[in-house]
Amino acid sequence: MPITLTADKLAAARDIAALLKPGTRVCLTTHVNPDGDGLGSEVGLVHLLKANGVAATIANPTPTPPRFDFLFRDLPNVDRSREAVKALRQADAIVVLDISDLSRLGMLAETVRTRGVTVGCIDHHVSPGTLPDGPRYVDPSAAATAELIVEIALANEWPLSQPAARALYVGILTDTGGFRFSNTHPRTLRIAAELLDRGIDPEAIYLDVYAGAPEGRVRLLAEALQTLVVEPDVGLSWITVPPGAVERHGVTSDDLDGVVEHARSIAGVRMALLFREISQGRIKVSLRSVGDVDVARFAKPFGGGGHVKAAGLSMEGALADVQSAVLRAAREFLS
Ligand code: 5GP
Ligand code: MN
Repeated sequence: MPITLTADKLAAARDIAALLKPGTRVCLTTHVNPDGDGLGSEVGLVHLLKANGVAATIANPTPTPPRFDFLFRDLPNVDRSREAVKALRQADAIVVLDISDLSRLGMLAETVRTRGVTVGCIDHHVSPGTLPDGPRYVDPSAAATAELIVEIALANEWPLSQPAARALYVGILTDTGGFRFSNTHPRTLRIAAELLDRGIDPEAIYLDVYAGAPEGRVRLLAEALQTLVVEPDVGLSWITVPPGAVERHGVTSDDLDGVVEHARSIAGVRMALLFREISQGRIKVSLRSVGDVDVARFAKPFGGGGHVKAAGLSMEGALADVQSAVLRAAREFLS
């Protein structure tokens, strides 16, 4: 079955393309702690634009985790996250990927809000959208933002080169947990197949993404798993990263990606949580669910968000206090 696009999507894809014309200096950005989808979408779009004669740079609010450095091997000087404000100030157009909320742009939110240039957005989150004006290509039913970039490329007949296809495949692979999560729709696999048709190597990409771990990541996992608590009656389980453990193992908080899945993997669990201190007095909570539990709705009163089965929030406070408040709310939510 070919990949078809609704008239609305075709029009939105053309509006995005109209913003990204040769001669325009484009700057791409994504949410704090960029993940495989945020970065894969950015790099994929950079390659697509480059082929169209459009120079694009990337400026993210927090650095690229070393784990995703491989995406930039053939793109020297494109990741300007270390001088992100400067990169944004030099742009004629900004495109925000994998998020529609200004607040998730961290320390870049103010620059993006006041820059005065058109701000496009390509995203798959459920969100009211709080970005400055510009074309939108938003579809919460997509598994990954990278999926939407493939749609935009197809709609505009942009050639999908191998480097673009590889980066976009990384976005879909990581946001579906390796094509395992409930967001793996037939359409997701059709779009992934479209990328594989370009001759990219799925095993090489798997190795780049999942088999390049520093030893510390596995030792950190071992330590974090020791903290597992399960409340079978409620269907709740949680893991707590011991304060300082990330630094002690010489890794970054990105190396905790996937740890919460272990809490979710237990029979009878309906909501799994991962608690960790991201900075002095600031706690991040990752939320995952099974069945019909909507963790995005759970996260909302705490100022968080995300998707039905994968969401997150962060709060000021001591680890123990945040934990007891969130767990109390979780028990109530599940009852
Ligand atoms: P993770 O737990 O893997 O960091 O994030 C899972 C999902 O929740 C992602 O889609 C992410 O965008 C969303 N998310 C994580 N943390 C936050 C947060 O603090 N605020 C909001 N609005 N969404 C979050
Ligand atoms: Mn995503």
